[in-house]
Amino acid sequence: MLILGIETSCDETAAAVVARGPDGQGRILANVVRSQIEEHAVFGGVVPEIAARAHVELLDGIVAAALADAGVGFGDLAAVSATAGPGLIGGVIVGLMTAKAIAMTHRLPLVAVNHLEGHALTARMTDQLAFPYLLLLVSGGHTQFVAVHGLGRYERLGTTIDDALGEAFDKTAKMLGLPYPGGPAVERVARDGDPTRFDLPRPYLGRDSLDFSFSGLKTAVRQAAAAVAPLTERDVADLAASFQAAVTDVIGRKVERALERFRRATGVAEPVLVAAGGVAANKAIGAALGAAAAKVGGRVVVPPPKLCTDNGAMIAWAGAERLAAGLIDGLDAPARARWPLDADAAPKLGSGQ
Ligand code: ATP
Ligand code: MG
Ligand code: FE
Repeated sequence: MLILGIETSCDETAAAVVARGPDGQGRILANVVRSQIEEHAVFGGVVPEIAARAHVELLDGIVAAALADAGVGFGDLAAVSATAGPGLIGGVIVGLMTAKAIAMTHRLPLVAVNHLEGHALTARMTDQLAFPYLLLLVSGGHTQFVAVHGLGRYERLGTTIDDALGEAFDKTAKMLGLPYPGGPAVERVARDGDPTRFDLPRPYLGRDSLDFSFSGLKTAVRQAAAAVAPLTERDVADLAASFQAAVTDVIGRKVERALERFRRATGVAEPVLVAAGGVAANKAIGAALGAAAAKVGGRVVVPPPKLCTDNGAMIAWAGAERLAAGLIDGLDAPARARWPLDADAAPKLGSGQ
C-alpha cells in the first residue's frame, strides 16, 4: 500500500510517498525535502512566523513533486499522513490542514502522526528492525532516550533539562563566529582542533541519570572564549574540538547506562541503539555511540543522514505502520505544539536499578 506523508513541524517543508508491503517491508518511492535554512540563516535560528508562511507557499508544490517523483496520483494512495505535533504550531497546522483537505477530497483515511514517532520508527523501514530497541533522538529541538517497546508503546527514559544538543551546537557556533546551522560548522573546524586545550564540564547529573544538561557547557564555552578573545582561527578550532569532546564523553557514558538498563529490563541479549535527529550525522558522536554500544554488547543503527533529519518519508512510514494496525484518525484530529511520545502510557522500565 502507498502512503503520502507530510512534514511541516519545523523548518523543512517535506512530502514523501512510501510503500509498505504485507510483509512489513518499506520502500521509499519519493522523498522531497525543501529546507528553509536560507530563509532563517540571517536570523541565526528558525523564526516561527517565517516558517509557517513558507510552508503555506511551498507545501502544495512539494506534495505535487513527491507524487510526480513516485509516478502516482492521489487515487493510488491508501492513506495520507501528516505530522500533527509536536512542533511550531503554525507549521503543524499548515501540514495537517493540507492532509485533511487531501483526505476529504480524495476520500482517504487520515493518519495524524507524532513527529517523534516518525523518528522512532524510521529504522524499521531502513533496517527492518524488530521491536524492542532504544532510540536516542538528538536534534535541534529534542534530546531524549526512548525505549521503543512496540507501535504506540514508547517510554521516555531521559531528556534534556535545558538546551537540546543541536541547539547547544548552534549556540556554540554563534559564539565562535561560525555560520548557521552550527552543528556541521563546529564539526568541520573541530577536526583541526585540540580537544584537550580547554577543560570544559561534563554534566553527568548523578550516577544513574539518563537526563542531559547542556546550558552549563554553553556558558563554559562562552567564558573560555572570553578569556582568550580576540579569537584566532586556532582558538576557534580548539574550542570547537573541546566542546565536541565534552559532548561525546557525556553522550557515550549515557548510552552505556541506557543500554545496560534497557537490556536488564527487556532481557534482549544484544540491545540495539537507534540514533536519529540532525546531530546523529556528527561523525565524532557516531563513533562515541559505536564504542559505547560495543562496551555493553550492543550495536548501533543510524539511518542515512537524509532520513535522520526531518523528512516526509518518516511520517509516511509511521502512517503506514499505524494504518496497518488499524490506527486512523478523524478529520477533527488536533494540531499540537506539545505532544510527549509517551503520553498514552507505556510499561515502565523503572529508573535507577
Ligand atoms: P526537530 O528537533 O523538531 O526534529 P530540527 O530541525 O531542529 O527539528 P534536525 O533537522 O533533525 O532538527 O537537526 C538540526 C540540528 O542538527 C541543528 O541543531 C544542527 O546544528 C544539528 N546538526 C546537523 N548536523 C550536525 C553535525 N554534523 N554535528 C552536530 N550537529 C549537527
Ligand atoms: Mg531541521
Ligand atoms: Fe525532527
